[in-house]
Amino acid sequence: MDNCFNRVIGNGSIRSLMSSHIKNKTLSHAYIIEGAKGSGKRTIAKEICKAVCCENRNADTFPCNSCRSCMRIEEGLNTDIMTVNRGEKASIQVEDIRELCQTMGYYPDDGDAKVYIIEEADKMTPAAQNALLLSLEEPPSYVIFLLLTEDSSFLLETVRSRAQTLKTELFSTSFVADWLRSNPKCKGFDVAEIQNAASVSRGSLGTALSVLLDKSSKSASISENAGKLVELLCSDKRSDAIIFASGIKYSRVEFEEFFDDALFALRDIIATKFNAEDSLYFADEEVAAGIASRQKLSKLSKIYDALVAAKEDITKNNAQIYAVMTTLAALSV
Ligand SMILES: [Zn+2]
Repeated sequence: MDNCFNRVIGNGSIRSLMSSHIKNKTLSHAYIIEGAKGSGKRTIAKEICKAVCCENRNADTFPCNSCRSCMRIEEGLNTDIMTVNRGEKASIQVEDIRELCQTMGYYPDDGDAKVYIIEEADKMTPAAQNALLLSLEEPPSYVIFLLLTEDSSFLLETVRSRAQTLKTELFSTSFVADWLRSNPKCKGFDVAEIQNAASVSRGSLGTALSVLLDKSSKSASISENAGKLVELLCSDKRSDAIIFASGIKYSRVEFEEFFDDALFALRDIIATKFNAEDSLYFADEEVAAGIASRQKLSKLSKIYDALVAAKEDITKNNAQIYAVMTTLAALSV
């Protein structure tokens, strides 16, 4: 197993399971790859595509990352790999899924497999999921679906029951920092810069790297603003929280990221109440502990619920942030 999927960091259980499915030819027709934003779901999907199409499948190391097929997938040139996502829309519609599945009947252009990747699969409408279900019931033998999602509970039970779920790992801030230090791309960055990138990464190597290499990265500023909002809410400065939040201008997708970050930050604060060791958001556990000490657990959990509700409002309705924040402030009393 050690030689397989070696472009995937960690995630030993996914690597060994997929290695055995490929070697033993027991691949399922559908896999759900579930994990937090930036946790490597796309990388895992790409490596699975390579592994099922690799021309050196009997080699000890696969995917080989050197055959023509692996190279074409790396460059995004393989026409047997098809991806659908919602773009800037709120959801993936039934037409998107029908269009994707229409091509299922045609044999692969260039190999033995066709892979259909559905990004943010939980954003499929129920109608879209039902359309997919028809294709999941009896796909041609060469078809594999990869459904990427942050939370598979938003998928219909009927869809989940037809797929095998692979859960990605999140890494602790200290693991992310060590990984950055050993990465040749990160030479020249000082300790504080690396620690900062690790602390805003929410346990994701990909996010940490992009924050470090692109300091103007929007993700870093979104993460910083989310942490500030949580601090204001936890400090009972509700009017300050509203003023702060109403000044923020993000797209729907950015707001989703903003609330995800806020939930990560709050999760850390709540975790310090239970003496948790690994922080995913705060680089300095004492900062989280300081905020935690000012609030009772019951209040923190109310704020958490309110943030979850606010994120749902944004996701569903693209509501004005001000309206969402007013609700949030009222709920967090
Ligand atoms: Zn190959």
